Amino acid sequence: MANKRESLYKDSKVICACGETFETKSTKDEIRVEVCSKCHPFYTGTQTRASKSSNVDKFNKKYGFKTENN
Ligand SMILES: [Zn+2]
Repeated sequence: MANKRESLYKDSKVICACGETFETKSTKDEIRVEVCSKCHPFYTGTQTRASKSSNVDKFNKKYGFKTENN
């Protein structure tokens, strides 16, 4: 029974929308994804910085602080 379960998983090629490809184990031969570890905002840090700055803006507006230190 264990052998049967293992046979469901084979070497699959994952193809990202950014052009990155990598191998993984899956029941499918080929998997297409829109984001991967190379281009996902979480890994590039873009999204993290954006959400941080917007949180700071909200905080400043809520408490009436100016964003510049003059
Ligand atoms: Zn990608």
